[in-house]
Amino acid sequence: MTRIAIVDNEKLKDAQLKGYIRGLCPVNRTGKECIKIEQDGKLTIDEHLCTGCGICPKAAPHAIKIINLPEELKQEPIHRYGENKFVLYSLPTPSFGKVTGILGVNGIGKSTAIKILASVLKPNLGDWERHDADYEELISFFKGTEAQGFFEKIREGRIKVAYKPQQVDLIPKTTKGMVIELLKRVDERNELKKIANELQLNEILNNDIAEISGGELQRVAIAATVLKEANLYIFDEPTSYLDIRQRINISKFLKSLINENNAVLVVEHDLIILDYIADLVHLMYGNENAYGTVSGVKPVRNGINVYLSGYIKEENVRFRDSKIKFDVKPAVKKKHTKEAITSWHNVEKKLGNFKLSAKEGTIHKNEIIGILGENGIGKTTFVRILAGVLKQDKGEIAKKITVSYKPQYLEVSDELVVDVLKAGFNKYENQVIHPLDIAPFSLNKLSELSGGELQRVAIAHCLQQDADLYLLDEPSAYLDSEQRLILSKVIRDFVEQKNVSALIVDHDLLFIDYISDKLIVFEGKPAIEGSITGPFEMEDGMNKFLKELQITLRRDPETNRPRVNKLDSRLDREQKDSGKYYYA
Ligand code: SF4
Repeated sequence: MTRIAIVDNEKLKDAQLKGYIRGLCPVNRTGKECIKIEQDGKLTIDEHLCTGCGICPKAAPHAIKIINLPEELKQEPIHRYGENKFVLYSLPTPSFGKVTGILGVNGIGKSTAIKILASVLKPNLGDWERHDADYEELISFFKGTEAQGFFEKIREGRIKVAYKPQQVDLIPKTTKGMVIELLKRVDERNELKKIANELQLNEILNNDIAEISGGELQRVAIAATVLKEANLYIFDEPTSYLDIRQRINISKFLKSLINENNAVLVVEHDLIILDYIADLVHLMYGNENAYGTVSGVKPVRNGINVYLSGYIKEENVRFRDSKIKFDVKPAVKKKHTKEAITSWHNVEKKLGNFKLSAKEGTIHKNEIIGILGENGIGKTTFVRILAGVLKQDKGEIAKKITVSYKPQYLEVSDELVVDVLKAGFNKYENQVIHPLDIAPFSLNKLSELSGGELQRVAIAHCLQQDADLYLLDEPSAYLDSEQRLILSKVIRDFVEQKNVSALIVDHDLLFIDYISDKLIVFEGKPAIEGSITGPFEMEDGMNKFLKELQITLRRDPETNRPRVNKLDSRLDREQKDSGKYYYA
């Protein structure tokens, strides 16, 4: 097949429009049925007849994609979800004795691929109308590749898989009861006590699953996975909802699972964490929500650098037009106007047993300030005080400013994206809507969006308001690593062009490093007290924060991206001795 056609009939309900599109197709006009309206009203496209003229996707860009496949892609599909639906062309392969990462944008088939490896999804080898392929067919399909050996071992029962799905927030919908009951049910290794200790779950073991936070659910799901007797552990996004300290702890924990008899596969969008966890990496590329394929396996440093470059030399594939670059210093060193827009002095706030204090600090015009700190330490509370949503008990907030606030948890409704972002489409189409790629789902209801789509709408909604200060609470959640870097650029350009300021709370250290001019650091004890220091210059703020975590960062010589030093390595010791936790 040289091209594939993707039709989203959910977004193509207008019967008149379907008839119009069918009439436009030049192949149909010759009497053939390239575009067809089926008896159930669905529009289908015959990929063998389609010439790729590009007329129908122009008529319904929100619902139809025609993609010319690259010549290099000679494989047969491993799975297709249905007629004119997403196609997956290959699979990553786990390596025993190693942690293998999978890196790629959202909608490229990462979760599909690992569900197939975990035997949660039976692949159909591209023929969605017949029954699922059995192991014999898969083994012969993959003959001569590493996947052949993998499926042979699965067939012989020599590989047992434990799998943590991506959406831990769905767990309370299907599993009821206390955390300890859930973990007891899956404890095949009889290690509940040990794992609960390592993942700091003891305090919530007797809590109801419906009542624990996202970060707690994530750690419970990881515990439930590793308690199973398996030799291949698969984790789909194991660090979402976790703060940086927890991300580092989980990374160490996942690395500690490895021995020569088992393997770990992990999908992760936080590039610093992926770099830290994985030994090897597969890149996944293709066309979002249309097709995906998998690169050969690479050592993790090289793999991430290739990913940032957008070009896989060995496979002669360019999957992005531009390179993603990091500057050693903040990407744009701006001339600060030094005009203060707000400041705070001896602010205190009590919420139940939790106490928050902020000595003093100032935010200037045209500044992006990153906020770092653990979960439960008052970041969101402080942001809400600045936004005027919460009132402080003591102290002063100097100036009354207008604030636009994107909360951490996003509300859904039946409103259409295009209605919610009316001002954005009018005022910031090029600046915000286009780079955040919102147009493809602009006619959807908020309730129909994926986490990543909803996040981008919430960010655009925050930016479309007129304000002096934009407060974005965890804007990188649900976004893939590429979207996070695009978002950094959008916010930077926006702040600069409008001469406003932004505060960004986030747990992705690379994102914060990439976007921030200055840093505010939160310290304290989760759920008990939090104290705010800063804003600091980047180097001072990062040094303070990393010292607290006891990790050091260096720059990759090829791309300048920050990397975590191996604990007790020569560089780690040298940087700690000289007090330079941030960049050698
Ligand atoms: Fe017809 Fe294909 Fe052209 Fe669409 S892209 S109008 S299906 S030939």
